[in-house]
Amino acid sequence: MPPCPPALTPAEADPRPSDVETALHEVLDRLGPSIFAGLLDTEGVLRYANQAALSAIESSPEQVLGRRFDTTPWWQACEQSRQRLQQAVASALRGEASRFDVRVATSSGALLAMDFSLLPLYDTEGRVAWLIPSARDVTEREQVQHQLQLTRHAVEQANDALLQVGPDGAFRDANAAACRLLGLSREQLLRLRVPDIDTQVDMTHWPQRWHALCESGSLRFETSVRHQQGHEIPVDVSVSLVTSDSTSFAHVCIDDIRERRAAERRIRQLLQFDQLTGLPNRQLLFERLGTMLQTTSHTAVLVLELDRFKRINDGLGPHIGDAVLREAAQRITATVRSTDLVARRGGDEFVIVMPAPSVPSLHTAQALLEGIARPMVIEGHEVHITCSIGIATAPADGDRSDTLLRRANAALHQAKLLGRNQVSVYAGMPHEDDPERLVLETALRHALRDDQLDLHYQPQIDLVHGRIVGVEALLRWQHPTLGRIAPDRFIPIAEETGLIVAIGDWVLRRAIEQAAAWQRAGLPPLRMAVNLSARQLHQPDLARRIECLLAASGLDPRLFGVEVTESMLIAKFDQAVRHLQALRALGVEVSLDDFGTGYSSLSYLRRLPVDVVKIDRSLVPDVTAPAEDVSITRAIITMAHGLRMKVLAEGVESEGQAALLAANQCDQMQGYWFSAAMPAAAVEAMLQEGRHIDPALLGQRDRQRTLLLVDDEDNIVAALRRLLRAEGWRVLSACSAEQALQLMARHPIDVILSDQRMPGMTGVELLRRARQLYPDTIRLVLSGYTELQSITDAINEGAIYKFLAKPWDDDELRAHLREAFALKELADRNHRLDQEVQAANRELAELNARLQSLLAAQREQNEREVGTREAAQELLDAVPVPVFGIDDEGLLVFANAPARVLCERGGDLLGAPAVEQLPPVLQPALEGQALFVTLVDRRWWAMSRALTGHARGRLLVLLPQSGAAR
Ligand code: C2E
Ligand code: MG
Ligand code: MG
Repeated sequence: MPPCPPALTPAEADPRPSDVETALHEVLDRLGPSIFAGLLDTEGVLRYANQAALSAIESSPEQVLGRRFDTTPWWQACEQSRQRLQQAVASALRGEASRFDVRVATSSGALLAMDFSLLPLYDTEGRVAWLIPSARDVTEREQVQHQLQLTRHAVEQANDALLQVGPDGAFRDANAAACRLLGLSREQLLRLRVPDIDTQVDMTHWPQRWHALCESGSLRFETSVRHQQGHEIPVDVSVSLVTSDSTSFAHVCIDDIRERRAAERRIRQLLQFDQLTGLPNRQLLFERLGTMLQTTSHTAVLVLELDRFKRINDGLGPHIGDAVLREAAQRITATVRSTDLVARRGGDEFVIVMPAPSVPSLHTAQALLEGIARPMVIEGHEVHITCSIGIATAPADGDRSDTLLRRANAALHQAKLLGRNQVSVYAGMPHEDDPERLVLETALRHALRDDQLDLHYQPQIDLVHGRIVGVEALLRWQHPTLGRIAPDRFIPIAEETGLIVAIGDWVLRRAIEQAAAWQRAGLPPLRMAVNLSARQLHQPDLARRIECLLAASGLDPRLFGVEVTESMLIAKFDQAVRHLQALRALGVEVSLDDFGTGYSSLSYLRRLPVDVVKIDRSLVPDVTAPAEDVSITRAIITMAHGLRMKVLAEGVESEGQAALLAANQCDQMQGYWFSAAMPAAAVEAMLQEGRHIDPALLGQRDRQRTLLLVDDEDNIVAALRRLLRAEGWRVLSACSAEQALQLMARHPIDVILSDQRMPGMTGVELLRRARQLYPDTIRLVLSGYTELQSITDAINEGAIYKFLAKPWDDDELRAHLREAFALKELADRNHRLDQEVQAANRELAELNARLQSLLAAQREQNEREVGTREAAQELLDAVPVPVFGIDDEGLLVFANAPARVLCERGGDLLGAPAVEQLPPVLQPALEGQALFVTLVDRRWWAMSRALTGHARGRLLVLLPQSGAAR
């Protein structure tokens, strides 16, 4: 045992040195397992080591004390640390303290990261007498720092602009994306405040905004920000309040929505306009015609078809055909008034709608015939073409868009039969133009009665867990001789004839009973969705009827939903909205069916009480679809989520579509790929079997890390596979961009490492496409060629995360890939959290809405009751005989004016037991016996009877008898 250093020995007190030493050792031993301490003599020989240090290398004091410190086991695993120690010993002998981080080995083979210091200790003459090494385990701190760095890195690299804002509105921190978005350097940005960049907030409004944030904890809104160069950028902003210790700041995420706005405009353009002629397409035609019919009493509809257009298309080529269509469109537009609507219905058909025509429509039609017949000169060809026109007018030929168009068509057909190049005006009886229709109409009248209708159910699947969460009830009609008739064929007839009301009722009852039966049978909770028709939606008592059906069956309203289309809502918008609100208040889910085929007005969608947007199958892209289609779908999904609505994609026919939708955050799907509509028994079997979508396809995180290597050189792929074998990752490889895209459609991929120069598509182009289709992947380029411009562009726009050069350094490449996976997992976690938060928010909003409507109903009920009570009170006060009300607990709750006079008391009569308040002679009457009594010198006939209806208790009435009391 070395002598105790003099400086450690208290001078005055005189405990025996060994006691002090033992005490000191005990103190040092108790410092805990993460603090090492020891003592070296001036030769650098270890004289003491505390228990924690010895335990770490499982040594006894005898094994290490007396050895030079740098030869002890702690320092054997890391040469660099040992060298630092030797330098530190030399410095300490010169009287200099050292402190640095080292790696220290333990007996288990682990390397601990330690914060190490070596201090010199002086004797009374000021010479260095001892050296004190001590070390603290900072492995955890290092890990946290590493995690922090990773998070910082993720924040810095994030595509979204992220900022921190203090209560004074000043920016405290900003990532690279935020600087890029605003065109400012970090230093410039950190000198600004929110009102300097937000166009909707100035310094006087700022305190209000901050207050609102503190109240709610988070905010979400759209605004625009000022770029340094002066232009404004529309953005979606999410703000959350972060409070740590006593300080608060706002974490702000700014999403540049220029692309989304452009996509919205593009969606509208694509959905409503014909791309070739720029004219409104059939959807917009339907929409505008519907509106015109409501506002104008007299409207002419002209259907114009080019005669033998096919001849031009086939003979001169489709590009001349296209030019002819464009020229025809121009001539038609030039012939009619600017207030008339010209639309291209498809192919070589145009429709002209003339509200309140100023000249007879026949004249306009003649002018059109002449206009089209003038020769057209296209690319040197002189083209001669004529047209045929059919006319129908409202209100004479009908007052609905579909009827008028059908009748104008029938007239067109007539014009063509008569030899073309002429006009024909509709002059038939209703439905004369469609004989099959009449047959169906008659058959449909018997369908319900003869039990020919049935419901099939198509599963709806959640794209997060892959489970069936609902079914859509779809009507089926099997006619004994006509066979199976499609709903698209017979539902419009049922609608027009009014038969839909009875059929719709039957569907509602049947679907609700079925859903209730499934719940009673113990099947997992499943929402039953029923399609409503326009007529049903216009019935004043729809919500109440559904409520009664639900109550009678015992089905929880949350397990029921209705589907409506936009076009159904237009006619009586306010009434339809009220119905839907009432249904939602019950807990019934409302879906907007076929979104993308109707009006698809995004601003209109905001006003609809809708929980789910069902994207029509024409807008559900496949992996081979142009990237533009995917961005339209994504814009719809983003927008619906922004409005706190869920999104269900209809008509999903392939695995690729399902994976693509899941990757783009679509919530649910239905379609033939999972299952067509089936009879109830088949659905039951499917549910019992627990059929679901493989979660791996949906990108769930319990699967293996997956890397996609893309290179046209086989030997490079082979070398990379060898290099990464030990990582345990799933490695897929493709030798071309096309093959890579196929693999991406079939497998959920985390990280893509692609060569740049490949035949067909370059690596940068491939990764750009991957970013559009699967924005969450982390994408890296590995290339021998540094085509600086294209690669920096791709990095700047976020298509590429990193560029790595060939030939590569093995360790570095592995480290980059590990980091990429870590980043992906972080993003996935955030994504999931975000989704959970969104789902929770939606649920909360739903609950809140239900609560509000319940409260409103309650309030209304209360007001009604108070009103009725007051009216009853007034009425009874007017009755000239005393009347008392006693509740079922025997309390006196009511006394009319004569009763109060009789008791010679005011209002304090009420609320106490009747037996105490009323004269004892009335006691038998209270118990139901009728009798004569004498009160205030008068004789009365007293009787009481039990109340009926909602009220409980008794009413006591005293009838005065003539003559004075005996
Ligand atoms: P919807 O409400 O949009 O129903 C979805 C339609 O798409 C169904 O056609 C369904 O069978 C079909 N479908 C489902 N998956 C796929 C797929 O992967 N690919 C393709 N190509 N189609 C798919 P269905 O059963 O012929 O019904 C047509 C329409 O008839 C429905 O469109 C709905 O508007 C109406 N309808 C059906 N049942 C009822 C009903 O009970 N009442 C009312 N009012 N309308 C109904
Ligand atoms: Mg539907
Ligand atoms: Mg649909």
